[in-house]
Amino acid sequence: KEEVNIISGALDLRKKKVKDIMTKLKDCYMLPINSILDFETMTEIVKSGYSRIPVYEGNRGNIVTVLFIKDLAFVDPDDNTPLRTLCQYYQNPCNFVFEDVTLDVMLKQFKEGHKGHMAFVQRIEEGDGDPVYETVGLVTLEDVIEEMIQAEIVDE
Ligand code: ADP
Repeated sequence: KEEVNIISGALDLRKKKVKDIMTKLKDCYMLPINSILDFETMTEIVKSGYSRIPVYEGNRGNIVTVLFIKDLAFVDPDDNTPLRTLCQYYQNPCNFVFEDVTLDVMLKQFKEGHKGHMAFVQRIEEGDGDPVYETVGLVTLEDVIEEMIQAEIVDE
């Protein structure tokens, strides 16, 4: 029974798009790049429970980099380090995908691995002038695998 589910889940990856499974931007835990890594902020980050946190400049749609929790290992909260300083040091790249990308393609891209296991989902706003890209959410390898096995993965 479970095997049948996984096989049908795998076959359905071609029918579903990242926009169907993404975590919407409004539900993402993110940090503005002008944050200060003081005790309060670092506590909040750890409490969020996420291992990767998008960092934005200005508005939340303008994601400029990703903070990995492991990047905080050498940060002393008493130093009040600007998040910007840490981001400039690590320069973790972000990976963008279009909302219409299908899950089989997304899985393949995550497997290749060089851009990490999180991607930001973008929509093209067709207006009068040049098309504008709008960031609408994020998707991770875990989201794709959950679709494939047709079950929730309970986080540790
Ligand atoms: P983590 O390693 O942080 O637990 P996962 O890749 O296992 O992240 O993803 C678990 C779920 O959390 C997925 O549904 C993913 O879309 C979502 N997610 C990951 N990072 C964030 C974040 N910073 N804010 C909101 N949701 C997130």
